[in-house]
Amino acid sequence: MESIATNIEEIREQITAACIEVGRDPAEVRLIAVSKTHPASLVREAFAAGQIEFGESYVQEFLEKYDDSLLENKGIEWHFIGHLQSNKIRSIIGKVSLIHGIDKLSTAEELSKRALQHNLRVDYLLEVNTSGEASKYGMAPEEVLSIAEALFTLPNIFLRGLMTIASPERVKAQEEFRQLRTLLEALKAVSPDSSKLTELSMGMSGDFREAIHEGATMIRVGTAIFGWR
Ligand SMILES: *Cc1c(COP(=O)(O)O)cnc(C)c1O
Repeated sequence: MESIATNIEEIREQITAACIEVGRDPAEVRLIAVSKTHPASLVREAFAAGQIEFGESYVQEFLEKYDDSLLENKGIEWHFIGHLQSNKIRSIIGKVSLIHGIDKLSTAEELSKRALQHNLRVDYLLEVNTSGEASKYGMAPEEVLSIAEALFTLPNIFLRGLMTIASPERVKAQEEFRQLRTLLEALKAVSPDSSKLTELSMGMSGDFREAIHEGATMIRVGTAIFGWR
């Protein structure tokens, strides 16, 4: 395994290359380093290499890293990318810059209630199950549009876009990324403020090139940076 700094550098080069292939500006794609299951020491190493945004999937593990004295006040931006249960919202609210995995109206309602209580503005993405695999979290694409109006009226929380985890096969994955982009366009058409609805969180270690080709604005990369979990 190469060093984390080398891995990050290589991924940044691949991001740039994938952007150039489709005429996109590399500045449009944010790299989120997925540090779940890895110790805080590796987050520090990645941060020292210039990585600012990190993704975590498990509440308890996230809180341990969030409270790590050596990571505090460094300007790290945390993304919560896991499945979020309503009863865990209060533990992470105010500590993460974006919540990627909201997949129910009721969870969004709870998020709104907590945000209001704490007088916070919270950005979130809806997780969409584009592959239709039963083992995956996320709402069905058609469901997204059916609850959109209700979501837009919830106070203190702001829908910024969509997130998906694609099928393992790259050809299918690319089709699913395209589907997510199309869904975002449909959502914009019914949104009261479509200028805020800009994010497509899609693409992981094995398929971020395809995701960038289809318009990803955030890619979530774990293994290719930190090694196997
Ligand atoms: C673990 C995880 C990733 C990172 O996956 P890799 O294949 O290791 O890059 C990305 N997104 C989510 C939601 C994850 O849970």
